[in-house]
Amino acid sequence: MYFRLLFLALFLATSLHQNLSGAEKPFTVVIDPGHGGRDPGAVGATAFEKNIVLSVALKLGKLIETNNKDINLIYTRNTDVFVKLEERSRIANKAKANLFISIHTDGVPNKKVSGASVFTLGQDKLSENIEVAKRENSVILLEENYEQRYEGFNPTSAESYIMFEFLQDAHMDQSIAFASLVQNGFVRKKRTDRGVRQAPYWVLWDTGMPSVLIELGFITNPDEERYLKSEKGQDELVRCIYDAVVEFKNDYQRKSMAKTSEENSDTAGAIAQNTQEAREVQDVQAVQDVPVYKIQLFATSTLLDENNSEFLGLKNIDYYREKDLYKYTYGAFSTEKEAAAERKKIASLFPDAFIVVFKDNIRISLEEARSKP
Ligand SMILES: [Zn+2]
Repeated sequence: MYFRLLFLALFLATSLHQNLSGAEKPFTVVIDPGHGGRDPGAVGATAFEKNIVLSVALKLGKLIETNNKDINLIYTRNTDVFVKLEERSRIANKAKANLFISIHTDGVPNKKVSGASVFTLGQDKLSENIEVAKRENSVILLEENYEQRYEGFNPTSAESYIMFEFLQDAHMDQSIAFASLVQNGFVRKKRTDRGVRQAPYWVLWDTGMPSVLIELGFITNPDEERYLKSEKGQDELVRCIYDAVVEFKNDYQRKSMAKTSEENSDTAGAIAQNTQEAREVQDVQAVQDVPVYKIQLFATSTLLDENNSEFLGLKNIDYYREKDLYKYTYGAFSTEKEAAAERKKIASLFPDAFIVVFKDNIRISLEEARSKP
C-alpha cells in the first residue's frame, strides 16, 4: 500500500513539480535482538538464544555503521537486558523507523529440525506458523501486569489470535520484499530454506513500518547450534542481512529521490504528456474515494524491479499483492475510457493485459466502479 501511495506521490511530484527534492530524513533501521536478561529465549545444549542474537545484532550494527554512515541505527537492546515487547515496538515507532529487524533463533523438542526463515506479520497457514509465534510471543508472560498491558492478549491461547484475522498491514508488501532479500541471501549460503512465512507476532503487529522477524536457525539442532555460535556462521548470517538492508535502502531511496532527477532529464514532450495524466491523478487524490484505473500486465511469484526488462521498457510500473503473487500494473488513470485507450496502445506488447480498478488502494471490480460514477 505504501509503495502505491509513494508511487502516486512521485508521479505527481515528478510531473508537476520538477524541482521537488527528496526528503532528507535519514533512513532509520531498528535492530531488535530478541529476549535478554532474565529471558534466555530458546535454549540449546550449550547456548542461549539471547546471546547468539545479541552477538549477531551487534555485528550487523557494526557493519552498517562502518559502511553506511547515512543510516540512522537504533538497537532495542545492545546489552544482556530484558526488554518488554511493547517497549521494542515503541522504540521503533518513536524513531519513525524505515525498517524493523527482529532477530531470533528457534527451538523445538525435535533435534533434527533445522533451517532459516524470515517472518512477516500475517495469518497465512495460521495453524502451521502459530506455534512459532506462540513461542516468541510468550515472552509477554515474563512481564508484570501483562494482562492489563496487552489488553487481555494471552500469547498461549489460540483464541487470542483471532484479533490477527482482522489485521490490515499497510506495510505488508515492503515487509515481504525485505524478508525475501534476506531469505534469498540465506539460501545462497546453502542454509536449509524454510522460506518467507507469515505468522502473528505481537512485535510485528505493533510496529508501524516494514518489519520482519528473522529465525536464524534452530538452536536445538546440534549442527545448527554449532553454526549459530561460530564466528563464521554469524558473519555469514550478518552478511546476508546486511546486504538485504543495503539493497532495501537503496531501492527505497532510489524510488523516493533518484526518480525525480531521472525523469527531469526526460524530453519536454514526455513531461507534457505526463502532465495531463498527473492532473487527473491529482484530482483522484483530492477526492479520496474516486477509483484509480490501472492496466494489469502479468503476475509472478517473485518481486521484480520496476526497471526489469519484463516490462518491455514501460514506465509507471506498480504492483499489488494477492495471495502469493505480485501483480504488476502499468499507468494510473481516472477513467476506464482512458485506461482502455492506453491498453489498446500497448496491446502489441501485452496482448493479455486488462484493466483493474482500485478504490482507497483496495482492488474493486469494474462493475462496482461503473455503478458508482
Ligand atoms: Zn526468540
